[in-house]
Amino acid sequence: MDLQMQVDGIDAYHSTTQRIRVLTETWIGKNLYCPRCGNAKITHLQNNRPVADFYCENCKNEFELKSKSGALGEKVNDGAYDTMIDRITSNQNPDFLFMGYEKQSLTVKNLVIVPKHFFVPSMIEKRKPLSATARRSGWVGCNILLNAVPKQGFIKIIENGCAVDKEKVLLQMSQSSDLEVLDISARGWLFDVLECVNLIPKQEFSLDDIYRYESLLSAKHPYNHNVKPKIRQQLQYLRDKGFLDFTQRGKYRKIY
Ligand SMILES: [Zn+2]
Repeated sequence: MDLQMQVDGIDAYHSTTQRIRVLTETWIGKNLYCPRCGNAKITHLQNNRPVADFYCENCKNEFELKSKSGALGEKVNDGAYDTMIDRITSNQNPDFLFMGYEKQSLTVKNLVIVPKHFFVPSMIEKRKPLSATARRSGWVGCNILLNAVPKQGFIKIIENGCAVDKEKVLLQMSQSSDLEVLDISARGWLFDVLECVNLIPKQEFSLDDIYRYESLLSAKHPYNHNVKPKIRQQLQYLRDKGFLDFTQRGKYRKIY
């Protein structure tokens, strides 16, 4: 995978935003395989399509690209807040590709895919409305909080200027599809409990270890007064999906 972006023909574009879009999209079209099925290429869709930037001709999956200069950091700007929430709650999001590139050398440094079913409304932060003097006064944009994605859904394709082995990416993508839940509130619970499991700093843990996060989960789900049963239900689900083992009564082991 050649991490250098090609500047041929870029002088035809005058705005920096447009140039960056063309450079990054061209790079993806030339270099990236389909992270879902391994097809050698993904195809660039016509500009201004509302839902996606790329799709795979083999598995028909769609992808949207967000790029930024420098490190990916904790959040990435995106479009209108309400539109994003609508897309998530109606399961109309494509998979998201997040690219961090180096401005001086125009090389790709980091590329991550977050599969569509990892998106939950709590990952989307509302930005302040644009000021009264702005052209689109009152418009409310959003940030995607990358640090709110559980690590199982934050799959690295390029890390610090090195391409991750393709087979490893495909395997992680396939494992992540085992966590696909269409119902949005069930999805929220699953990923919130998974995040708590990820936070426990050991491979084997007890129910008491995970119950320490009860207040954190209650804060995220203020209308649910049965947090402990809900936790156990999600652990059961993670076991059924092969992410956890139950070793003995009340003991769990992480498989990943
Ligand atoms: Zn594909």
